Amino acid sequence: MKLSWKNLLLWSLPIIVISFFVWQGFFAPITNENNANIANSRMTYGRFLEYLDMGWVKKVDIYDNGHNAIVEAIGPELGNRIQKIRVELPSSAPELITTLKKKHVDLDAHPTKNTIAFWNLIGNLLFPLILITGLAFLFRRSNNATGGPGQAMSFGKSKALFQMEAKTGIIFNDVAGIDEAKEEFEEVVTFLKKPEYFTAVGAKIPKGVLLIGPPGTGKTLLAKAIAGEANVPFFSISGSEFVEMFVGVGASRVRDLFKKAKENAPCIVFIDEIDAVGRQRGTGIGGGNDEREQTLNQLLTEMDGFEGNTGIIVIAATNRADILDSALLRPGRFDRQVTVDIPDFKGRLDILNVHGKNKKIDQSLSLSIIARRTPGFSGADLANLLNEAAILTARRHKNTITLNEIDEAIDRIIAGMEGTPIIDSKSKRLIAYHEIGHAIVGTLLKDHEIVQKVTLIPRGQAKGLTWFTPSEDQSLISRSQIKARIMGALGGRAAEEIVFGEAEVTTGASNDLQQVTSMARQMVTRFGMSEMGPLSLENEDSNPFLGRNINNSNEYSDEVAIKIDKQIQNIVRDCHNKTLKIIKNNRVVIDKLVDILIEKETIDGNEFRNIIQEYSHIPQKKY
Ligand code: ADP
Ligand code: MG
Ligand code: ZN
Repeated sequence: MKLSWKNLLLWSLPIIVISFFVWQGFFAPITNENNANIANSRMTYGRFLEYLDMGWVKKVDIYDNGHNAIVEAIGPELGNRIQKIRVELPSSAPELITTLKKKHVDLDAHPTKNTIAFWNLIGNLLFPLILITGLAFLFRRSNNATGGPGQAMSFGKSKALFQMEAKTGIIFNDVAGIDEAKEEFEEVVTFLKKPEYFTAVGAKIPKGVLLIGPPGTGKTLLAKAIAGEANVPFFSISGSEFVEMFVGVGASRVRDLFKKAKENAPCIVFIDEIDAVGRQRGTGIGGGNDEREQTLNQLLTEMDGFEGNTGIIVIAATNRADILDSALLRPGRFDRQVTVDIPDFKGRLDILNVHGKNKKIDQSLSLSIIARRTPGFSGADLANLLNEAAILTARRHKNTITLNEIDEAIDRIIAGMEGTPIIDSKSKRLIAYHEIGHAIVGTLLKDHEIVQKVTLIPRGQAKGLTWFTPSEDQSLISRSQIKARIMGALGGRAAEEIVFGEAEVTTGASNDLQQVTSMARQMVTRFGMSEMGPLSLENEDSNPFLGRNINNSNEYSDEVAIKIDKQIQNIVRDCHNKTLKIIKNNRVVIDKLVDILIEKETIDGNEFRNIIQEYSHIPQKKY
């Protein structure tokens, strides 16, 4: 939980209310008696007795059941003018009245009904106070949980506007595996540190840099590292925080942010998730979003409003550069764009080196093994992986992280928590056939990735899992590779069909079928891998919620749509038939593998391939 100004404010509210009323109650007896003009001065009881001795006291008004008094006194110490001074009287001073009488001091006592009224007041307030406290609590919770209703009521002002870190403490060495982006930014650091180098030759310092890349690749980290290296403050806000319920709040936040930044220049202003505000204007379902557009306009105005040489560099991050408003990308705004990608093998190794530094890793385990096993992992995934493995190590009371813990952590990150294996039953057998179906099809197709292991230990949503070792290069995939994947994904259902019959197939394949359909659809509409010819018929993302016009995403006629569907069906039917054939032809070894799997729960990839070779009478056949 983080403590924000808003929380503080909410919590202090009841306290303020209480102290306000207590204050009121305390002074009520005095102030309501036309003595509002009394001086703020007070004196001690001892002092008062001294004054009394000197004969300076002229009048005493006693309040509050004899606890307080206002004294009118005159004397050289008081500038020879009559002054009203407050005195707190000790609770037991009965002789005081006599003394006062003796000295012929004008004496007056005031009724104490106010004290009773005061306690009544507190009594009446108790209920509302409890209510307010309760409300504040609810308020705070709803803010933390969803940002929903609380946001609507906080009116922007009471909310933390943005974060500022005077020193991020992060240096370039903490960022690994994204060397190109780093190089680009080393120059930015020089801009901040030695602007005169550039201004001397008339170069304009860039105002904005846009970081583009998937989540967890280190965009925020990199921005912080720039601030850390240049030793300047780091202001940050997330685009989604700009977009509020009330029109105008976002814009005022942008203004505040830049005002503060200008006061603290040179500095870095970091806007995370800029796509939340920076989406193309005038698009999206239901027309534009006034609030977002105002915020974006304000941002553009602010970026135009300062000279590049003031030393503010705005860094924005997004994973969707394609949906950004083109006005943001114009020169003088985010004219520099740096792509940060999911790291490759070397990048992963570097990142593991950074995060492995403070971890006790077993000597038998080289980081390159981990890097080899984690294609597709982002920097954040890798950091998380090492941490999970360390936690597991501690839980198992071991001293060093071994491959065991790494394996478990990888599986956990990809597929979720491990469950308890189901007991031997018909459904266990069916799951075993399903998984072996995936694995055998994957193994016998030469274009398919290699089986890493098959297991009946449930994890996350899955009741059984077949793991394949992903190939390093995922950027270019051939037609036969996609087809192999489709067949591999169909292998589970195909095995169910052949072994248990059409009537017994289960819902367990629904996820597989989703993937199959999506792959087949992309073959037709995006990759030109069908009889439709090399046409691109759909965008990567025809998601209408992203702010594009829905009508433009599918630029084909209804006739073409029918053809597309036909092609998809053809591909899937063809693959399905081939898959059924593979299962039928290898039934003997499949039965054997299922028996072993049910007994051992997990079969490792190498073992799996050995068994196939052992039991197939024909040499291993590639399809
Ligand atoms: P993004 O902003 O791109 O979503 P972050 O910068 O927030 O990603 O990364 C989250 C965490 O993941 C970082 O704090 C860091 O621990 C780790 N991390 C991500 N990328 C890298 C990297 N390239 N080098 C080192 N650590 C990284
Ligand atoms: Mg981030
Ligand atoms: Zn499956």
